[in-house]
Amino acid sequence: MNAATYMSQIAQQLGSIYSPKCTTFKNDYRSGKKGAVIGARKGYLTALALTSSGRTYGGTNGFSLMVRYPKSSSAQQITEALKNRPGFSSFFGKKSVKATEDSVVVSWTYSLGKTKQEDVITLLDAVIEEVSRYAPAFTGKCEDCGTAEAREITLMNGAPGYHCSGCQMRIAADKQREADEYSARDANYVLGLAAGLFAAAVTGSAWGWLIGLAEGDSGQWSPKLHALVGVAISIPICLLMFKVIGKRDRAGQIMAVVLTLAAKWWGDAIYFTYVFMHFQNVAFSWPLVSIVLRQFFEIKFTDGWHIFVTICDIVIAAAVPWLPWGKLLTFVPVFQTIQPDGSLIQTLTQGAVAR
Ligand SMILES: [Zn+2]
Repeated sequence: MNAATYMSQIAQQLGSIYSPKCTTFKNDYRSGKKGAVIGARKGYLTALALTSSGRTYGGTNGFSLMVRYPKSSSAQQITEALKNRPGFSSFFGKKSVKATEDSVVVSWTYSLGKTKQEDVITLLDAVIEEVSRYAPAFTGKCEDCGTAEAREITLMNGAPGYHCSGCQMRIAADKQREADEYSARDANYVLGLAAGLFAAAVTGSAWGWLIGLAEGDSGQWSPKLHALVGVAISIPICLLMFKVIGKRDRAGQIMAVVLTLAAKWWGDAIYFTYVFMHFQNVAFSWPLVSIVLRQFFEIKFTDGWHIFVTICDIVIAAAVPWLPWGKLLTFVPVFQTIQPDGSLIQTLTQGAVAR
């Protein structure tokens, strides 16, 4: 059974709507495949989806279900209650439970067939039962102001909720102001660049020496590791540099791209030095590093695999502005309503990005 059929059938059994473009479970670390099933059950809002996580390494298939309730302070109790519920942890094997002030998400993975739909619904009802002990249900009022009537489900950044149109506009305006304040913040590029250079030097050197010691003597190398390590190298550079700059913006992103590439190639130069040491049977010395540096691009383009790694280095560095730790922050939420056929209509403006 393909994913869309599976989801449609769950929607049918729940009396919910299957929305193929819904982004409830789409974030940096997990993606909802084929949208989500959105609905209301016993006064709570529900979202269910097939998900995959860890996309970089092939991904694992899983299922996520979300139960939303009005803001309450019972996240801790709900998590505890679910984890202690008899039979809950053994139901489909290992599950993760994550409760916040207004939602709980239960996720699990499956390896062969998709979880049986009846079992998903049984689990959903079990979660709702536990939630209802600690958090009240929605009562047809807007969850933000608590006064205006709101009976139509509105997605806020993909999560189902009840938001009256007045509150949608107020929230969007508040977030727009936040975005404006953020982009008006002072940025310390000089100190940020110094911090970025420091992070690049440390991570690049760490890469070079670790891989040099691991592979330099064997004559073997793992091109895939060399091709992908740039992703890992970019993390500390971005985290430290953006923290010191004080905000994320385009200028900082450009610095992050350049520093990631510089760090990777600095590490590569150290690695090539180790390879050279192995063949010439000489000890490490800085003059040796400078000899390697002079032939650096010759080495980087020696053969097919080297060229492949070189291209990956450049592509990864250029992609840093889209990675979770390098991308700009989104402030203004997107509000959508779900049509009976599952299509989505945006109620307000586009989600704005801090410039
Ligand atoms: Zn409201």
